[in-house]
Amino acid sequence: MSDYLPTIGLEIHVELATQTKMFCSSKNDSNEKRPNVNICPVCLGYPGTLPVINQEAVRSVLRVGLAVDGEVADYTEFDRKNYFYPDIPKGYQISQYKNPLVSGGELMGVKLTRIHLEEDTAKSLHNENSKLKIENSLLDFNRAGVPLMELVTEPVIKTATEASDFARELQLLLKYLNVSGANMEKGEMRVEANISVSNQQPTTNNQRLGTKVEVKNLNSFKVVEKAIKFEMKRQIEILEQGERVVQETRGWDEKKEVTFPQRLKESAHDYRYFPDPDLPELFVAEIPDFAPEALRRAMPELPWEKRERYKRDFRLKEGDIEIYVRQPEWGRLLEEVAEILGNRDLVQLTSNYITSDLKTPVSARSLAEVVKMISAGEISSRGAKDILKIIQEKGGEPRAIANEQNLIQESNKEVLEKIAKEVLRENPGAPIDFLVGQAMKATKGNANPQVLKEIFIKIL
Ligand code: MN
Repeated sequence: MSDYLPTIGLEIHVELATQTKMFCSSKNDSNEKRPNVNICPVCLGYPGTLPVINQEAVRSVLRVGLAVDGEVADYTEFDRKNYFYPDIPKGYQISQYKNPLVSGGELMGVKLTRIHLEEDTAKSLHNENSKLKIENSLLDFNRAGVPLMELVTEPVIKTATEASDFARELQLLLKYLNVSGANMEKGEMRVEANISVSNQQPTTNNQRLGTKVEVKNLNSFKVVEKAIKFEMKRQIEILEQGERVVQETRGWDEKKEVTFPQRLKESAHDYRYFPDPDLPELFVAEIPDFAPEALRRAMPELPWEKRERYKRDFRLKEGDIEIYVRQPEWGRLLEEVAEILGNRDLVQLTSNYITSDLKTPVSARSLAEVVKMISAGEISSRGAKDILKIIQEKGGEPRAIANEQNLIQESNKEVLEKIAKEVLRENPGAPIDFLVGQAMKATKGNANPQVLKEIFIKIL
């Protein structure tokens, strides 16, 4: 069997969380359950209406572009992408063709082609009305005209995992920038993968592209991975039989876990793109609000910056760092505790308790107190777990709980030495672990076993 080189490129659509829609003042609310309430003549596509550009949407895309080190356009424009579909009644989608807002950039080592801005379509609901006895489709225009950011990667991804990792990192970035909820189940982030497999010899620029198949509507990271794996296997099998892969768009069948043909792919010129005469050309560089320096200054800490900082300042295990990067609320707790403790050697210990013992957040002050008590040998690790459990269930102060529950360990060396000597007298020549056990028994389990052991080693 010859070797096959898979090539994957991603196209990701993201609904931006702006107050209003892309070209009108209708509310943009992805949580609205009642159909067709956030609508107006503009987003319904009535003839004679005029679109107005939503600045916040442009700003959001520029911020994403700067975060991934893309090149922000000096000049941009909106184009009409013409096609007929029931969910786009004006007969075209306003998008960007030749002059996207952002070109290039990189995320997770994957080069980006472009990031542009367009409008979402209405939502078709097929056979949703049980009262109708015929096959039917309903249209909900709440989504029509919602600002959509489209990000396209270069075809440089080689594995299904790399693709889903990329999508995960993008989702994280969008959340950090607060530009989208980016919830895949809700359709706020929609992934399409272009997949080809080639057994050809590399060309001069080291490219070996096979026939591209586009898989649409991948609505979770798991599905992204499964669909790409399936499609790679399917294409290799076709090539193995000496046949040719058909260039087409395929969907993902959730139940059967297979891709299935949807339609033959149109080429770009079928859309008859042309600049929308209703919208002004944008000279981005001339709009003060969009100045890259200003947008950069207002940028929050980005996921990869946070990873670096946690590694550098806290020397945490990589797995722990990922937890805090993905769940910033826990990261904030860790940082507050670290600040109170003022000792970076205790941060990993703190992290161990956060990751294994906390289901609901506790106050930083309480957690810091617990960590202090463990590191001073006042309580055992078991005791710390019990205290944290009680705090989460009914609240309370760590020290008060420790006293109440009899969790304070005897660490006083003089007291423990006296006990150790007694145990030794009764058990001459016994091994150390046995001696420690006897001493623990004598103190009804209240002694600090570490300190006891040290004392026995010293005496012997
Ligand atoms: Mn698009």
